[in-house]
Amino acid sequence: MYQQIKELSEKYYTETINIRRNIHKYAERGWLETRTACMIATKLDELGYEVLTGKDIMNKDDRMGLPHERVLQLNDRRAFKEGVNEKYFDKVKSGMTAVAGIYKNGQGPTIALRFDIDALGLIEDTSSQHFPYKEKFSSCHLEAMHACGHDGHTAIGLTTAKILMNIKESIHGTIKLIFQPAEEGVRGAKCIAESGFLDDVDYIFAAHIMPQVADYDLYLGMNESFATTKLDVIFHGVSTHAAESPQFGKNALLSAANCILNLHSIPRNSDGQTRVNVGTVHAGTSRNVIPETAKLEIEVRGVTTELNRYMEMYARDIINASALMHDTVVEINEMGKAYALECDKDFMTQIRSLCQQHLNDLKLPKENLSPLGGSDDFSYMMARVQAHGGKATYMKLLTPIKSSPHNTTFDFDESVLKKGPRIFASIAYYLMK
Ligand SMILES: [Zn+2]
Ligand SMILES: [Zn+2]
Repeated sequence: MYQQIKELSEKYYTETINIRRNIHKYAERGWLETRTACMIATKLDELGYEVLTGKDIMNKDDRMGLPHERVLQLNDRRAFKEGVNEKYFDKVKSGMTAVAGIYKNGQGPTIALRFDIDALGLIEDTSSQHFPYKEKFSSCHLEAMHACGHDGHTAIGLTTAKILMNIKESIHGTIKLIFQPAEEGVRGAKCIAESGFLDDVDYIFAAHIMPQVADYDLYLGMNESFATTKLDVIFHGVSTHAAESPQFGKNALLSAANCILNLHSIPRNSDGQTRVNVGTVHAGTSRNVIPETAKLEIEVRGVTTELNRYMEMYARDIINASALMHDTVVEINEMGKAYALECDKDFMTQIRSLCQQHLNDLKLPKENLSPLGGSDDFSYMMARVQAHGGKATYMKLLTPIKSSPHNTTFDFDESVLKKGPRIFASIAYYLMK
């Protein structure tokens, strides 16, 4: 069977590349993946999966960091013009862009696979050395680019779905293929986890395309990920004439300025690594007016969930104190959140023995874990499954990468689109045979 899975991944390789390039070309940012979601739902439907979308698998109110309503509407209009399956359009529009394919075959474990589908807010490189531009599949959407490989993840997910349908009589239990929106900014996983969709899952796994180390193909898990909280902070003051009556104003910009400096003064913590960053500040309207509003986009991180909590609590105290200093009112909006990743050792051991027995042309490093160094809200799904007694891991799919992730010249070697579906489908079969 493992040989058959390998042959199928080779047979569908060209098709997988075409799917990846199509998604890459029509890159859509978090919560705006209307066209992408319709395409995924259509393909899963054609393959024979039960298709769940939008409110079937998401808690609408647990979506974090949603764009403005007007942006959602304009984006839906664009997706409609570009061609979407009307059967799914109404279900996924307005930021309800999660999709899942379900297949059930009698008794057996319930397994879930996660694939993230969103792009980043970058303007893609248009130089002749950039492969997607040269091959005419670079993004046609302004300020949206697949620069983290999620186009590849989605294509890998759809081909995995196709391979599993080819061997459906040989797998027993329930498969849930989850296509998650808005991973960037760690915004999209929570609403799926909170919906309860994962509560019966015995095994959940995902993988991220990552730069190749030595000539390894796969890491079975990740550590050294950051738990993180993303906050928008808005100080509301009172504007007034800067010379004639400054004493009647309440200066939002001064609250923000004190806040910025003091956030960067949060003490280090001897329990482990922490991070804080104020990424943007927008304040004031005019030179001679006391600034009425000031907005900061900030993030804190900690290498454990506890350390992130320490950073977040400290940051909230500083934000509130900064408002008090200048008598402004502060609004704090949580825009994204992720826990630290905790991969299950015995699940990784199971996958290693599968690889040793049946996928022995793949090269694995001796150690299971490799540092993530960033954050991924897949941790929300993992934690939810683990809290209900299930097992979880988050792997690295290694392939040569041009430039670095989140860069306008990012590109990955497409050979991973053959390896990825083979690994995912083999693990699924191994758990359900
Ligand atoms: Zn990313
Ligand atoms: Zn990513």
